Amino acid sequence: SYAFGEEPMKDWDLKRREWLKLHPSFAASEEKVLLVTGSQPNVCKNPVGDHLQLRLFKNKVDYCRIHGHEIFYNNVLLNQKGTGFWAKYPLLRASMLAHPEAEWIWWVDSDAVLTDMEFKLPLERYKDHNLVVHGWWNMLYEEKSWTSLNAGVLLIRNCQWSMDLMERWTSMGPQNPDHEKWGKAQKSLIKDKAYPGSDDQSALIYLLIKEKDRWADRIYLESEYNLHGYWLGIVDGLDKISKGYMEIDREVDLLRRRHAEKMSLFYGAMREKHMKDRGFWKENVRRPFVTHFTGCEPCSGEHNSMYTWEACWNGMQKALNFADNQVLSRFGFVHPDLLNSSLVSPLPFDFPA
Ligand code: UDP
Ligand code: MN
Repeated sequence: SYAFGEEPMKDWDLKRREWLKLHPSFAASEEKVLLVTGSQPNVCKNPVGDHLQLRLFKNKVDYCRIHGHEIFYNNVLLNQKGTGFWAKYPLLRASMLAHPEAEWIWWVDSDAVLTDMEFKLPLERYKDHNLVVHGWWNMLYEEKSWTSLNAGVLLIRNCQWSMDLMERWTSMGPQNPDHEKWGKAQKSLIKDKAYPGSDDQSALIYLLIKEKDRWADRIYLESEYNLHGYWLGIVDGLDKISKGYMEIDREVDLLRRRHAEKMSLFYGAMREKHMKDRGFWKENVRRPFVTHFTGCEPCSGEHNSMYTWEACWNGMQKALNFADNQVLSRFGFVHPDLLNSSLVSPLPFDFPA
């Protein structure tokens, strides 16, 4: 069965291995990633909502094309009760069954923008883990804070452990008649939880605290780069980061012109060296990998009361154009103004491929 709570999946590791043996042409590998994302089944209430969804999807397609990942976009509810952030779990399970060749399923919320098109997921780092989310262990266990991890972007291994985790995880969700009780249980544990009902992020925090022995070993909390990055702390810095990278590209282009024959093959390496010399790994200098507009709802136009819709809109334009510049530059064009989405001009130099 493809549904949670009915007939749990058993022996998926064995079944998957058998399938792979019978389908050698799929050549499974530890590196194989399927990006899964999606949105609501209906027309967006916000007049610019569907336009934003399209741009947010294009951004993910661009990243996958560059890195050779497959992508699946879903806009139906696989479980009628699993709405909003709960919609992803039946979908993740179905994706695992539909794509046994994929080692990792990478869920990316529709409202998350991939803002470093060059960054590669460091999968080697996660070889002993089955779930990766952005977060901090000390904040989780000491402060029990709702923001100690984020469930909007996650890497989950295609295996039985993940099936078991999601079965347990979604047992706190809306398909369970008890879910109101779970909302209260989460709230009493996680003091800064704002949403009154049971949510998936709180449910994961709850499991990591209450059932630590069962789950924590296989969960990796990433904080070395922005597997999820909260947009409010990011968008104001994007212009400066963009200029920094542009300067490097311009310098490398000048060197290319000067030493055309001798160095033709080394621009990529040279660019990397220049970036290292200038401290490009530092925060606020390096591109954030993911900029997540959590709290802004592109489709409904609703937003957290801490900021205006205009702040959400401008932030999204900036992040989307910042990411698009990394794509367009290979085609020889650039958005000179991150807030002006329709204006592009020819790149003032050759992109150092
Ligand atoms: N989503 C979906 N189908 C739906 C509603 C939501 O696939 O019917 C997905 C969508 O990708 C969205 C995610 O669920 O980004 C989580 O919701 P949201 O981003 O609004 O939560 P937030 O990050 O603001 O907490
Ligand atoms: Mn989100």
